[in-house]
Amino acid sequence: MLYFDNAATTQPDASVIDSYVRVNKQFYFNPNSPHDKGVEVSRLLQQARTQIKRMLQLHDETVIFTSGATESNNMALKGVAYHKKPFGRTLITSVLEHPSVLEVMRSLESEGFNLKYVNVTKEGRIDISHLKTLMSSDVILVTCMQVNNIMGQVQPIADIVEVLKDYPKVHLHVDAVQAMGKFPLVTDGVDSIALSGHKFNGLKGQGILILKNMHNIQTIIHGGGQEFALRSGTVNVPMDVACAKAVRLAEDHRQVMMTELTEVNRQIRMFVAQYPGVYINSPDDASPHILNIAFPGVRGEVLVNAFSKLGVMISTTSACSSKHMKVNEVLQAMGISTSRILGSIRLSFDYNTKKSDVEVFQEAFDTVYEEVKELLEQ
Ligand code: PMP
Repeated sequence: MLYFDNAATTQPDASVIDSYVRVNKQFYFNPNSPHDKGVEVSRLLQQARTQIKRMLQLHDETVIFTSGATESNNMALKGVAYHKKPFGRTLITSVLEHPSVLEVMRSLESEGFNLKYVNVTKEGRIDISHLKTLMSSDVILVTCMQVNNIMGQVQPIADIVEVLKDYPKVHLHVDAVQAMGKFPLVTDGVDSIALSGHKFNGLKGQGILILKNMHNIQTIIHGGGQEFALRSGTVNVPMDVACAKAVRLAEDHRQVMMTELTEVNRQIRMFVAQYPGVYINSPDDASPHILNIAFPGVRGEVLVNAFSKLGVMISTTSACSSKHMKVNEVLQAMGISTSRILGSIRLSFDYNTKKSDVEVFQEAFDTVYEEVKELLEQ
């Protein structure tokens, strides 16, 4: 099998699973319990938090463990919007965002907040000059992902930070799920960051929220007061220790992996260019771990099935939205034609992807192309 769907989820590293199992067996205690075993486990939890902070070069920020980036995004966006409501009502996002951001913003809009969408360039980037025109003293929250999960384009977070310098009360939230392990996280001027363990060879159901100022957020998940009273619920220490391990591996492997994936991406782009009627959707300077390709005239689902029969696992646009029959908003915002959107597939790579996989993929690509070429728009 060739697994090219790593933007949907990655294979957990064996050592991450080992940590999870080991801590579950030996340290299953509740870190909130006052007895010795509880104290011991509480120390393990703090160690995991400190290690993550060190590895991600965080300083004053707080690391909060959650059940995934969906929860981190919900906690941050709602928590900040509610907290800052007395100071303004305007929120800014773009249609590029993952549903776990976009749908939260839309839900806040339905509660009475004023939601504005920043324009997107044809390379799929936030239009910074348009952002400047949307800014006002009523804006309290801006959210932008660091790397897009469908096309791989990298967002100009530092430029957004520059624009926001004139508006000190604005909170900037970054969904860095697809950036983690690929790029250094942008933390300067960023108020909160969401991460997801299963996108960097960790476990599913594991998230992190990095927060610069705990006093700028209202609690959304109430209960026993765990995780600085921001995320109540018995803490999953085995999961959090395993997450620290995954963060370490991701940071250790980052540069070597990116060199390998740059070459994998380049080679695939090169051979795809030789097939008439097939186009690359991802911008040239997108992250190498995501490559979006269009077969206009053919349906993405047909392509995914054809590749799957040959043992190659890929995705249509993103696993989160491929079950919905809506035309993908991200590709639409980039001005990509409907037939290109409907015929688009996403390949996504990770640490386990090797240059030698390209040859195997090319063979499958050639077979699928022969099957569908009559349908391609010329
Ligand atoms: N943001 C982005 C950019 C993602 O790709 C994903 C996962 N598809 C999420 C958020 C949600 O992460 P989780 O699965 O941990 O809830």
